[in-house]
Amino acid sequence: MATPIRYSITSLDPASHVYDVSVTVDSPAPEGQVFSLPAWIPGSYMIREFGKNIVALRGESGGRKVQVRKLDKHTWQAAPCKGALTLHYQVYAWDLSVRTAHLDGTHGFFNGTSVFLAAHGFEQGQQVVEIRRPEGETFKRWRVATALAELKAKRYGFGTYVAQNYDELIDHPVELGEFALASFQAHGVPHDVVITGRVLNLDMTRLCDDLKKICEAQIAFFEPRSKRAPMERYVFMTLAVGDGYGGLEHRASTALICSRADLPVKGRPEQTDGYRTYLGLCSHEYFHTWNVKRIKPAVFAPYDLRQENYTSLLWLFEGFTSYYDDLFLVRTGVIDTDNYLKLVAKTVTGVLRGSGRKKQSVAESSFDAWVKYYRQDENAANAIVSYYTKGSLVALGLDLTIRQQTRGRRSLDDVMRGLWARYGRDFYEGVGRGVGEDEILALMEQWSDADLKGYYDRHIRGTEDVPLEALLPAYGVAYEVDLPKDARPWLGARVTKEGADAKLATVYEGGPAMQAGLSAGDKLVALDGLRVPAAGPDGLLARYRINDTVRIHAFRRDELMEFSVKLKADTAPQVSLKAVGKPVAVVRQREAWLKSRA
Ligand code: ZN
Repeated sequence: MATPIRYSITSLDPASHVYDVSVTVDSPAPEGQVFSLPAWIPGSYMIREFGKNIVALRGESGGRKVQVRKLDKHTWQAAPCKGALTLHYQVYAWDLSVRTAHLDGTHGFFNGTSVFLAAHGFEQGQQVVEIRRPEGETFKRWRVATALAELKAKRYGFGTYVAQNYDELIDHPVELGEFALASFQAHGVPHDVVITGRVLNLDMTRLCDDLKKICEAQIAFFEPRSKRAPMERYVFMTLAVGDGYGGLEHRASTALICSRADLPVKGRPEQTDGYRTYLGLCSHEYFHTWNVKRIKPAVFAPYDLRQENYTSLLWLFEGFTSYYDDLFLVRTGVIDTDNYLKLVAKTVTGVLRGSGRKKQSVAESSFDAWVKYYRQDENAANAIVSYYTKGSLVALGLDLTIRQQTRGRRSLDDVMRGLWARYGRDFYEGVGRGVGEDEILALMEQWSDADLKGYYDRHIRGTEDVPLEALLPAYGVAYEVDLPKDARPWLGARVTKEGADAKLATVYEGGPAMQAGLSAGDKLVALDGLRVPAAGPDGLLARYRINDTVRIHAFRRDELMEFSVKLKADTAPQVSLKAVGKPVAVVRQREAWLKSRA
């Protein structure tokens, strides 16, 4: 058997944001060993070209220099050599995101996709990583958080870690620093909660209590009988910053960024919107442990990390996960029904705001994620639909449709468990197969016992809105559209503050601003001769009536332009959802949906 690929990673000077990395291949390919870095990271569907951050790469064998030739933007080939070959290189790491790598004197974070060159031909064998402590007093108290298995390291210690193949290596992000750490067990599996960043009076006990409920419920959801988790341990790693939000799923961990204010404070038991958002994010990434890390699209099994991997199924992997994330908060009692319905109403309102939903289906949005959803420009609201938000409404509509057709015998839960049993449970143990692009409808019908062809054609392959106003009342939820009679006049644009200017960030199709010729990027100067403040024109507009015409001055680049805008009412619906108290039959339906336990 081949000897493992050996990596080492440290930093000679964390303040320079540079990791010093080496990779050693004991028996390099005789024609010249090839190495490459992925172009994207699974879970984030955009070509990111991590190779651009590789600096000062050199080859060495037996103390002698080995020439290394660059073949393309992320591929290198060493000259043929006898004996072990080592590449030494640096990785510049100054991107504060869960998708890449970051390093300074306060902490380090990296994904393997940013730092570990794959040794071609050896990807299926063992990969061993020595994580070395940077030198100096400052770093004496640093620890290591990762779900990678320890080979010669104590838990949370520097030392040697091991992965059984390259895919496993890059699916285990690593956090270094003086983080806060707490642990809990969920159905016998240890879970670590790691929080990096200055957070005063963090209520870790409350956080662990809430997360434990969510994790146990999800484990029991997929394996109601055995309550067996798919991983041996799990790590939630969070970087708390002033203002931030994001997460990336992995098979036994997740990397998250949140706003410091969202984390719970000791002695303050009230539940803030921010804390609910954070728990929803944790629940989302945890659900991915099953849905997308083990139940995958066939084209991700295995991933081709050199280029785009097209799938029309992200509505299933991201949309359904977005449906279940908040659903688990209410099913476990971590949030109440009213707060759950508020979250759903916000999603509905947001989806109905964009006219892009009439032009792109969630299947198309999934396929085009690489160039559209992940590269949104000022026209996104007019051109695309989100497979996350509309995808979550598609899941909700499907769940209610299945429950209705089967009189409550089946639900979307049965579809998820069917997918799990067929594709997920043994994914890493051998089956290694994913969901085909065209088989999902038949599978959903098989496990739900429902006729879903029409729904699938209209709302997944087609662009029709999910008919929640028709579906929800049978589940004890009133669907109300608020269009206030005194609707204020509206420009038909989203305005953001840019320095001292009010800038049009999005100009909605068919709205007054677009009809008058205003464009995204225009900076508003004055409205009927009065200066538009950086916060936007709402205060000024409040004195006008619908159908009034106003004169707007705006800069497009450095040219002053004048527009005549006929104000209209904002007709996009504000949806609110309310739980009703009777009749008893519908309340019972609602409870079967929102309170069901596996
Ligand atoms: Zn997700």
